[in-house]
Amino acid sequence: MEFFDTHCHLDDPALPAALPELLAQARGQGVCRWLLPAVDPAHWARVLDVAQAHEGVVVALGVHPHVVDRLEDSVLERALARLPQTLSLPQVVAVGEVGLDHLRQKDPQGRARQRRVFEQQLQIAIDADVPVCVHCVRAQGAMMEVLKANAAWGHIKGIMHAYGGSAQMVPLYVQAGLHLAFGGLTARPNARRSAASCAAVPPGRLLLETDAPYMPIEHGAGASRPVDIVQVAQAVARHRAVSVQEIAALTTANACALFGL
Ligand SMILES: [Zn+2]
Repeated sequence: MEFFDTHCHLDDPALPAALPELLAQARGQGVCRWLLPAVDPAHWARVLDVAQAHEGVVVALGVHPHVVDRLEDSVLERALARLPQTLSLPQVVAVGEVGLDHLRQKDPQGRARQRRVFEQQLQIAIDADVPVCVHCVRAQGAMMEVLKANAAWGHIKGIMHAYGGSAQMVPLYVQAGLHLAFGGLTARPNARRSAASCAAVPPGRLLLETDAPYMPIEHGAGASRPVDIVQVAQAVARHRAVSVQEIAALTTANACALFGL
């Protein structure tokens, strides 16, 4: 079995062990590829270094909504001006991590600013014809508005990372052009909503992720690890009533096709 982890912060100092050890542990269970999404333009170089140093790692470059909230306009402008040319680097396969987070950002002006920066990054991805890696927390309605209002509908490709929306919204994201990725939360014992969403995704749009170190399967278990993808795959297999071998093959093929690997 081979697994592709489509969202793993391999450059993050909060990972629970040294990177070579974590990657070896994951490789021992069949994990062979990772998408490492950047969150802060100050870390783009660090993210590229990780991809260069480790087999099977590709990256997404972008500005995460939490980081948008704390960066000054001038810093954001410089990052967005640099983004298009960085997409031609060989390790870079996507724009991300970008999106909307209404859990952290409650202020209407702050939300509008997040949205503007997200829309700019979305447009950069569309212009370059590369996938986008989308973070969306408590903002499914606003996300739909953005996708519908920006000629993105049907013209984007990419991932709703750690999909947290309802099963009813799955067909809308699929129509928009996106894949849906499931992580540690779907493997928790009472993840009924996530299980229903997971079962509603067409086979060709399903992906796996760990979001390590941020999405432990057991609530409060501390930092998650790249090897956790195996438990995520087992949960997704249960939700869809198929074998874990089938989920591994399907999701790895989907991710490779999406990123052109
Ligand atoms: Zn992330």
